[in-house]
Amino acid sequence: MKELREAIRMHGVGLGQDVVKVDMFLNHRIDTALLFRMGEEFAARFRSEEPTVVLTVEASGIAMAVAAAHHLSDIPVVFAKKGATVVQSPDVAQAKVYSFTHKRENVIRVDKKYLPKGSRVLIIDDFLADGQAVQGMMALCAQMDCEVVGVGIAVEKGFMPGGKNLRAMGVNLQSLAIVTGIEDGKILLEND
Ligand code: 5GP
Repeated sequence: MKELREAIRMHGVGLGQDVVKVDMFLNHRIDTALLFRMGEEFAARFRSEEPTVVLTVEASGIAMAVAAAHHLSDIPVVFAKKGATVVQSPDVAQAKVYSFTHKRENVIRVDKKYLPKGSRVLIIDDFLADGQAVQGMMALCAQMDCEVVGVGIAVEKGFMPGGKNLRAMGVNLQSLAIVTGIEDGKILLEND
């Protein structure tokens, strides 16, 4: 998606060999016009799959999941939670996810009543690296007998294995921008 690639080129910062920082428009400060354009783009790419719910994981995925769901005729968004809380229902599905950015294992949880059996789930997230977050959300869907009809990612790090593995599994994966590498802090993008 041209506008996202432009924003990455203008404001993205490459940290070390493998971290992409887009805090200027996506992960800390949000460019709302770009966010809703991304939602429109996700909706255009997945509308024919007729998703009934968008699933993401807190916190960074929520904004773009809402934007996508709004453009998919205002279907609901469910976000998996990372910490157990006192208001948590005992009837939850859960999966372990190793966090790329926090370098620790999280348990992600969804209350079963929010993802009813048979839901057609569109998974949305901000980044795809090793694929742990997406695989964790797919595991939640499998536990609840829901069908994953697609996976939409804002920024795929094409030099990491997550995307390749999901495509090999036959997952309908669509990434709005693909980073091919980082050189001296400069982010290299596919189709540039
Ligand atoms: P994965 O589970 O695919 O290894 O990593 C995806 C998750 O880690 C995303 O939910 C995202 O929050 C975070 N992440 C992975 N790589 C990056 C990165 O380069 N930059 C940022 N900001 N987050 C990342």
